[in-house]
Amino acid sequence: MPVLKIETLGAEVLRRRAEEVPAPGPELDRLVQDMFETMYDARGIGLAAPQVGLGMRLIVVDVDEEGAGKLALIDPRIVESGGGTERVEEGCLSIPGVTGSVDRPATCVVEGLDTQGNPVRIDADGMMARCLQHEIDHLDGVLFIDRLSPIKRSMLVKKYRKLSKP
Ligand SMILES: [Zn+2]
Repeated sequence: MPVLKIETLGAEVLRRRAEEVPAPGPELDRLVQDMFETMYDARGIGLAAPQVGLGMRLIVVDVDEEGAGKLALIDPRIVESGGGTERVEEGCLSIPGVTGSVDRPATCVVEGLDTQGNPVRIDADGMMARCLQHEIDHLDGVLFIDRLSPIKRSMLVKKYRKLSKP
């Protein structure tokens, strides 16, 4: 199984809304396996299809918390959020080397389909809630740096550009 290329800041696919809802089947199963492998290889806890260059509404996460193992979701949507706002340090495999503190709701309920096409509903808190919100943002072309103040964002982008220069 190949490790896929991860698109980085500046790639147009990261800024586009993902439109395609992938259909269950062997092709999707293979893609999901490749996405997990790519995520583990990069030591991430979540990966969205646009990050591997695909305009699909598909995410994989593995926050490795008790009871919350591997999860792949088709067309995930946040249907509820709450628990107040939490500020947590986030990074992104598409913006390697930089992190920033992002405010997000502490809990969320996500609905979508599993890879067999069955409806699923996830009541998430902690790292799982954080990770799901970050990955679902990717499906709408939103990156965590968009949720920072303009000053903080431009500092991070500058730092990233410096780090990623050959
Ligand atoms: Zn990300």
